[in-house]
Amino acid sequence: MNTAPLLQVEQLALHYVVSRGLFKEAATVKALARADFCLRAGKTLAVVGESGCGKSTLARLLTRIEQPSAGRLLIDGVTVASGGGGSENGGRDTGNGDPGRQIVQMVFQDPYGSLNPRKKIGATLEEPLLINTSMSAAERREAAHEMMAKVGLRAEHYNRYPHMFSGGQRQRIAIARALMLRPRIVVLDEPVSALDVSVRAQVLNLLADLQEEFNLAYLFISHDLSVVRHVADEVMVMYLGRIVEHGARDEVFTNPRHPYTRALLSATPVADPQARREHIRLEGELPSPLNPPPGCPFHPRCPHAEQRCRQELPKILPSADGAAAVKVACHAVEEGRL
Ligand code: SF4
Repeated sequence: MNTAPLLQVEQLALHYVVSRGLFKEAATVKALARADFCLRAGKTLAVVGESGCGKSTLARLLTRIEQPSAGRLLIDGVTVASGGGGSENGGRDTGNGDPGRQIVQMVFQDPYGSLNPRKKIGATLEEPLLINTSMSAAERREAAHEMMAKVGLRAEHYNRYPHMFSGGQRQRIAIARALMLRPRIVVLDEPVSALDVSVRAQVLNLLADLQEEFNLAYLFISHDLSVVRHVADEVMVMYLGRIVEHGARDEVFTNPRHPYTRALLSATPVADPQARREHIRLEGELPSPLNPPPGCPFHPRCPHAEQRCRQELPKILPSADGAAAVKVACHAVEEGRL
């Protein structure tokens, strides 16, 4: 029996070589540096961090829009992408033609920009089936109607154009399109942040229902920690292309270890008016990935930085306080200072 996690990411990295003009050497940008994690069917892993932290790079690697510079991506224990580019699946297929591509689908933040304004909804939903399957026109139409019903759209919406829908309905259409090929992993890139607050909960509930029905694994990218708290099973915090803390949601939210996670959480409103939380103000901006600081990349902004932090990159290790469900990349946590 195959007990491998649905998705395994091993030492995955993406580097870009960037020209800096005639008289300067080209620089290497580490958009993602040696990420390790796994994702199981039916679970949600939330990825949080500021813009430029590597969340979107990770999404592009998982959906195979980009090939990794190093490391491996495995689905059901089978390598579907690796550092040298290309698949190493040894001819094995994970069940859907090119392994990985159809198994992983993506929903984008902007439901306005992600739908073709000239295509009716029916044609938008049927397009992935037309390209990737040998289904007849009648079968495609039936599948589109079935998926529309699952995401809460009515049959008459089939012949309408995107501009005739509200933001929430368009995101339902985008979700339906992502599910047409029956993926097993869905990358949700800020799926509710462009929506009115009043419809966010409806779309989040829809995603939860679909996850249960199809046993989907979600990689949920968000900067909104109140949403993450609601949807995630695990949380992964990223800073400048690196994972700095990864653990079970309750561990990360109730006892954040990494100073960056603490700062992010301190800025999140809490529902309890009695609860007082110290607001940690982060000094400075996210450093340029073209010229990252030596040692711990967070040290110029960290209130706990010491000499070691300026020289040595911290490894991501199980938390020193023995909580098996959390890994942290911080010298202070490793030394028991935090
Ligand atoms: Fe701060 Fe040092 Fe930990 Fe980096 S390693 S987060 S600088 S205490």
